[in-house]
Amino acid sequence: MRSVTLTLGLVTVLASTGFAQHSRHLNELNWMEVEELVPARIQTVFLAVGTVEAHGVGPNGADNLVPEALAEHLAEELDGLIAPTISYGVNTHLDEYAGTFGITAELLEALAKQVFVGLSKNGVSNIIVLNGHGPNFEPLNSAALEVFRETDARILVINWWSATADVVEEVWGEQGGHAGLNENAALMVVAPDAVHPERYRAEQATPYNTDVWRAYPFPTTIGLYAPGEGYLDFDREKAERYFERVKEEMLAIVGDVIAKWEAGGR
Ligand SMILES: [Zn+2]
Repeated sequence: MRSVTLTLGLVTVLASTGFAQHSRHLNELNWMEVEELVPARIQTVFLAVGTVEAHGVGPNGADNLVPEALAEHLAEELDGLIAPTISYGVNTHLDEYAGTFGITAELLEALAKQVFVGLSKNGVSNIIVLNGHGPNFEPLNSAALEVFRETDARILVINWWSATADVVEEVWGEQGGHAGLNENAALMVVAPDAVHPERYRAEQATPYNTDVWRAYPFPTTIGLYAPGEGYLDFDREKAERYFERVKEEMLAIVGDVIAKWEAGGR
């Protein structure tokens, strides 16, 4: 029954767009398909940027996996393509935890700059950078500013968890944290088998109080934005509700920026 439904769905999409046969992933397209699509049919590319870093009882690739899931959603809704992820980012205070390592801010900035230039040279007008990791933000913005000045590219750099912080309040009535209930809930949706509640203890979380003290390494891999808030909650219904709302808010923000760029002819 399922395969019948899927087949019918595909036929419907093919009939309505005449173009459903192409993947949205640049990794999966050949040069002829890219040439046909960009820029004639598609002007927007989504680029996830993350890192490899310890995340409580979630996977070390959390900061890649969540933006990649958002890229899938946004590319579908806003008719874009998806560039290969920049999976290594700038790590700071969790470097001592196993499997955690990063690259320098200078290297990320140079890498992002060349990727943006490459996309722009291929006719991409709108580069939407879905950042999954805080310390990447400044180098990504520096790269975006430089490339914006040098090319015709329009570039949006957005931190998904900050842009949707109000959704955490809406679902749980509290703030989240690094690998806190919000990020954990996103992972429960996008990589459910990689979240291990059986390993969780509340002692694995510590409130950030960065005006007063900083520790290297940070004493736990879960960092809470507010004392007493953000501890993990493995409620599946809330996780699903949260991530649906995150997708909605991201779509609203990104869609608005693209629409205004286009309306303004910028
Ligand atoms: Zn993270």
